Amino acid sequence: MKKILVAEDNAVNRELLRELLEMRGYTVAEARDGEEALRMIEQTEPDLLLLDIGMPVLDGFGVVLKLRENPRFALLPVVAVTAYAMQGDREKILNSGFDGYLSKPVNARSLAEELDRLLSKRAHEDVSQDQASGRQPSGKARAAHDSK
Ligand code: MN
Repeated sequence: MKKILVAEDNAVNRELLRELLEMRGYTVAEARDGEEALRMIEQTEPDLLLLDIGMPVLDGFGVVLKLRENPRFALLPVVAVTAYAMQGDREKILNSGFDGYLSKPVNARSLAEELDRLLSKRAHEDVSQDQASGRQPSGKARAAHDSK
């Protein structure tokens, strides 16, 4: 069972996300600000984080920055959930360590697509790594060998 942490300071939005996620069979944990989110990630080790940008104590940018500095959570899939509609925000978010982006109000289909994309992408990467171990040397390694 995949576990999703919802970090969001608005109770109505938290409840909406919880309902959408539980309908799809995910286990849900909740945090109400950025520092609580970091504590909950340590405690519950979620498979994916849905992260509001505008939150008290520590905002979403602060949370994702802290996560990427920590080897344990550097690869945790993090999806920004934000009402910010300014042009350039999507690029700013995707250049800040987030893996995806959902705008509020979150619709069930976009949420499902992001989760499927990020959670199956991780499984796929694990498979490619196994395959890579039995693969021939890369072009770069061959070039180095040929030049000897
Ligand atoms: Mn908020």
